[in-house]
Amino acid sequence: MRDGAAKSLTSNIRPLGQLEDSFIIATDAEGLLLIDQRGAHERILFDKYRRLEASRRPDSQSLLVPETFDLTPAQAAAFGEVSDELERLGFSLMRLSGRTVAVRAIPADLPATEARNLLSEILDTVDGEKRGRARESLRDEIAASLARRAALKLNTALTQEKMRWLIDHLLLTSSPTTCPHGHPIILRLTKRDIERGFHRA
Ligand SMILES: [Zn+2]
Repeated sequence: MRDGAAKSLTSNIRPLGQLEDSFIIATDAEGLLLIDQRGAHERILFDKYRRLEASRRPDSQSLLVPETFDLTPAQAAAFGEVSDELERLGFSLMRLSGRTVAVRAIPADLPATEARNLLSEILDTVDGEKRGRARESLRDEIAASLARRAALKLNTALTQEKMRWLIDHLLLTSSPTTCPHGHPIILRLTKRDIERGFHRA
C-alpha cells in the first residue's frame, strides 16, 4: 500500500482538515489519504539539513544568552567528532575550559528549549555504537535527531495554508512516504477500498 502511495502522489492532493490535530485528512484522484503531520515535517526538515552540508550558510538563530553545558567525559570525547557537523547545521559552539561548552546559536527551526536535549542526544549517540561509523551515516543520524526535535508536535492545530505547505514540500522530498526513522507518513484508502467497504464493488 505504501509503494502504491508513493507512485501515485501528485500535487493534486487537497487537504480537508485534521484528525486529532495530528493527521491531515486529504483527498486526491485515487481516494482518501491520512498524512502524519509530524512525520511529514520531519522528512522535510531532514532533507533540508542533509542539503545544508553543501556549503551554503545555514539559517541560524543567536541565543540572547549563550547556554553552557558541562559534558560528561564520554560526551566531551564525542564533541570533537561532531562539532564540525553541528556548525554546518547552524549551531555556533565554543569550547570553554575543561569539559564546558557554550552554545551561542542554534539552527533556525529548532525551539531553543530543545537545544540542550538535542545536543546531549547527539553526543550520546556518537559515543555509543556509532563511533567510527561512516561519515554519511553519522550525518544521517544527526540530521534525523535534529529533524525530530525541530518538527511539529502532535496535537497541533494547523491552518489550511500550513497543511498545504506541508503537503507541497513533502512531495518535493527524497522520500515522501517515510520519515527519517523509517515510519510510514501516508495511509491511503482508495476508492476501491471504500466501495468494497460499502459492498458496492
Ligand atoms: Zn520519524
